Amino acid sequence: MSSSKRAATPFKKSHTLDFALEVVSTDSRGDVSVQCLFCLYEGRQVVEVGVAGRKRKQRNDIQYFTKSFAPFKYRSHHLGQHAASWTEYQMLSNPTDAARKQLIKKKNEKKNAIKLFCKEEEVSVYTTTIKDVVRFDLAMDFVSIGLSFRQTTEAMQKAKTRTKTTKLSGLNDSIAGQYTRVLVAVALQQIVVILDHESVWAMSLAGDGSTHRGQSFFDLRVRACYRGELMNLHLAAIPMFDRHSAVHIFNLIVKFMDALYNKWRAKLIGVSTEVRTP
Ligand SMILES: [Zn+2]
Repeated sequence: MSSSKRAATPFKKSHTLDFALEVVSTDSRGDVSVQCLFCLYEGRQVVEVGVAGRKRKQRNDIQYFTKSFAPFKYRSHHLGQHAASWTEYQMLSNPTDAARKQLIKKKNEKKNAIKLFCKEEEVSVYTTTIKDVVRFDLAMDFVSIGLSFRQTTEAMQKAKTRTKTTKLSGLNDSIAGQYTRVLVAVALQQIVVILDHESVWAMSLAGDGSTHRGQSFFDLRVRACYRGELMNLHLAAIPMFDRHSAVHIFNLIVKFMDALYNKWRAKLIGVSTEVRTP
């Protein structure tokens, strides 16, 4: 055995969690290549260079590691590029791996949630391209009758098998979720178009509470007269975890409306809640 081979530290599976790594490939000799998950989900930090306030541009590339897999390499990369996240991550490392898995998963979710939305240069417009239109339409049909993302995936599989339609293959619950986000985004955009229309000079908000599978939601509707027709549109069901206070709900609405339609304050003439008597 050559001295270089003896010195090569093999990759340890436990390091994927210890150092937030993911194996991306294994070559014919069994040598692996791993990537940094912080790079993947957050990008690298902007590094101050200190020359007359000049900043080095944020690097978008992902750090890959190949042998030898010495832990100091990960540590020095994480400290240099992801100092804040790395500190936070290490604090989670005790006592279980579950918490760290959760952290990575969370980052995954956020990244996946907006994967289909591409921001156009310079203007704040997002575009989405759906390649499998039939699959998208059918998936949204399933979701619209109340199927969960997982059930939608199962139903799609059955439809594919029964009709021998290969176009319907490849759906999973994460894609079903992304499709639904696209639909919700388009619906919200349509609502904004209505609210911003010249015929709409005022609007009112109506709040209501509901419960779905033990989870409380604050339902928000908007009412407006659009081209002579009264519209009553469902805006959002905001989950209420532990705080139901008026201030909390108020803040949620303001945050939501600011993000949705920044001119809402000028058109608002009333806010109401429905009170049911048993
Ligand atoms: Zn990294």
